[in-house]
Amino acid sequence: MIIARTVKELREVLDCSLGSIGFVPTMGALHIGHRTLIEAARKENDVVVVSIYINPTQFLAGEDLSKYPRREEADFKICELSGVDVLFYPESMYEADEVSVCAPAIRGYILEGASRPGHFDGMLTVVMKLLNAVRPTKVYFGKKDAQQLTLITQMVRNFLLNIEIVPMETVREKDGLALSSRNVYLNDEERQEALKLSSALKSATKMVMQGNLKSDEIQTAMMAILDPLEVEYVAVVNRAFESISDVIIGDTIVLVAARVGKTRLIDNVWM
Ligand code: AMP
Repeated sequence: MIIARTVKELREVLDCSLGSIGFVPTMGALHIGHRTLIEAARKENDVVVVSIYINPTQFLAGEDLSKYPRREEADFKICELSGVDVLFYPESMYEADEVSVCAPAIRGYILEGASRPGHFDGMLTVVMKLLNAVRPTKVYFGKKDAQQLTLITQMVRNFLLNIEIVPMETVREKDGLALSSRNVYLNDEERQEALKLSSALKSATKMVMQGNLKSDEIQTAMMAILDPLEVEYVAVVNRAFESISDVIIGDTIVLVAARVGKTRLIDNVWM
C-alpha cells in the first residue's frame, strides 16, 4: 500500500496506474462500515484509493473536531489488510480564503443542516476537492449519512462530474446499533440508550409494513421510543428530502438525530 500525503504525491502514483479507480473518502477511526465500502470498491475496481482526512470546515465551532477519534496506526493496518492500493492521508486540503461549494438551502440547511448550519458547505467543498484529486471511476458512500449522500449526488450531477456514486447499506452491530466512529464516546449505559435510535426506526418499518403510512403517527411512535433522549429531529422525507405526510414505498427515508449523553448520533432507514 502506498501512502500519499499530498495531492502531488497522490497524482504521481495514480497517473502511472491503469484501469478503474474505486474511491472511499473517510475521516478515519475505521470500522466495519468503512471496511464494507472498501471491500465493495476492491471487488469492482482495478485500483482502490481510501482517503483519511478529518475535514475542519465541516465541523462547527464547539463541535468535536479536536477530540474526533484519531487511530492512525490501526487505520493504516485496516486499509492494508483490506487491499487498499493507495491511502491518501493529507495534512491539510486548504489554503487561505478559498472558493467553496455551497449546499442548496432546501436540502443543505434542513435537518442535519439546520442542526449544523454550514456543515454541508464544508463537507461538499472537501468532497469536491477529493474527487478532483483522485478522479475516481466510482466513489462509495454510506446511506447512514443519507443527507450527505443526497447532496453529493446532486453536486456530482450539478458540476457535471463523470463519476458513479455507489450508495452502500448501513452496517449495524448485531443488536441494531449503526456503526459510527462516534460510538467510541459512549459508555456502557449510553450504548444501551443509543439502541433507542435503531429501535425507533425498526418500529417505523414495522408500522409501514402493517400498512400505516402516516408520517405524523410514525413520528409520534418513534418519539415515544426515543424518550427520554434529547431528540434533534425525527423526519419522514422523500428521496429529495422534502417532508411528506404519507410514506411512499420506494421513495422515503425516515431519519433520526439524537443526543445520547454528550454524543450526537444519527441513523435512518430507506423505505
Ligand atoms: P466518515 O468516516 O464517518 O466520514 O464515513 C466515511 C464513509 O463511511 C461515509 O460514506 C459514511 O456514510 C460511511 N459509513 C459510516 N458509517 C457507516 C456504516 N455504519 N455503514 C455503512 N457506511 C458507513
